[in-house]
Amino acid sequence: MMKWEENVRKVVPYVPGEQPKDKNVIKLNTNENPYPPAPGVEELMNTMTYQDFRLYPDTDATELTKSLAKFYGVRESQIFVGVGSDDVLGMAFMTFFNNTEKPVLFPDITYSFYDVWADLYRIPYKQIPLDEDFHIRKEDYLIENGGIIFPNPNAPTGVLESVNDIEDIVKANPESVVIIDEAYIDFGGQSCLPLVEKYENLMVVQTFSKSRSMAGMRIGFAIANEKMIDYLKAAKFSYNSYTMNMPSLIMGVASVEDKAYFEQTCEKIITTREWFKKEMKALGFVFTDSYSNFLFAEHKSVPAKEIFDKLKEKKIYVRYWNKARINNRLRITIGTDEQMQQLIEALKEIV
Ligand SMILES: *Cc1c(COP(=O)(O)O)cnc(C)c1O
Repeated sequence: MMKWEENVRKVVPYVPGEQPKDKNVIKLNTNENPYPPAPGVEELMNTMTYQDFRLYPDTDATELTKSLAKFYGVRESQIFVGVGSDDVLGMAFMTFFNNTEKPVLFPDITYSFYDVWADLYRIPYKQIPLDEDFHIRKEDYLIENGGIIFPNPNAPTGVLESVNDIEDIVKANPESVVIIDEAYIDFGGQSCLPLVEKYENLMVVQTFSKSRSMAGMRIGFAIANEKMIDYLKAAKFSYNSYTMNMPSLIMGVASVEDKAYFEQTCEKIITTREWFKKEMKALGFVFTDSYSNFLFAEHKSVPAKEIFDKLKEKKIYVRYWNKARINNRLRITIGTDEQMQQLIEALKEIV
């Protein structure tokens, strides 16, 4: 090792799902939405000129914050907007999880970015095993900690916890910040947003990447009490003020303003998911009762890795992790009805 390398912050980065160059694959591996974003988004895109980005963007994301505040019935001062929820979550780790002794708690099977951020910021953490059905045992989160974070529904399991159970965890931990990552909440789950008024230590994070079909646009947001949002903003403005680009600030508003389209799209995904569950069951798959835009499935006899490889040969991409407890599972994004039908046909040949 060179001398200068001793002073390097060494990290093992997060590995996102593959983005194949080949446009002909059926891509069910990163939970993107198969439908276009709200029509108003594309209209704006077609009318934009350089004047929409010649100047620096609004650091406060005023218009987007206003539309989100109206949509969710909260005050503008309760909202923090970022470059995808990854940006918001990373900022939140840096801002709220600074206890050098007590560990931040999250499940053993969860979004694999959490341990990466904890390592990056040198935050101690403890991964708490989910029960056999991949549910969180709330009693496990009643121990001393430096913060708590988990997605609801969880990823990659799709399992939803009740707002009541989450409230018990938030209530029992007044000395810690509890972050609920609601990346998939729009696909049938009940949001914890109403709890934000009641608990000063709760932050809810959501994204435009899944339910709003704008993963490439990079928009995420947090909703919490004003004090927490102010701390988050202070950290952000001490790091990089101009993170949100002007086109996404403008197009984000167009997405939020079209509530009917948003609800229709989520409803379509949910309908396809429930139909897909029946088909998968008939093929001998077992899976958790997903409340997200993916299914976390295992076959009764054929190993997941084998199915994964064979699907890839047929140009159908799903997600597989060679990790303890989940190495016989596939995470399959819910696409259009046609895509799922093609997947079913391919699976019929494999299993
Ligand atoms: C997709 C996802 C995110 C990140 O989404 P962004 O595209 O960064 O908004 C965060 N948490 C979970 C659990 C996710 O699945």
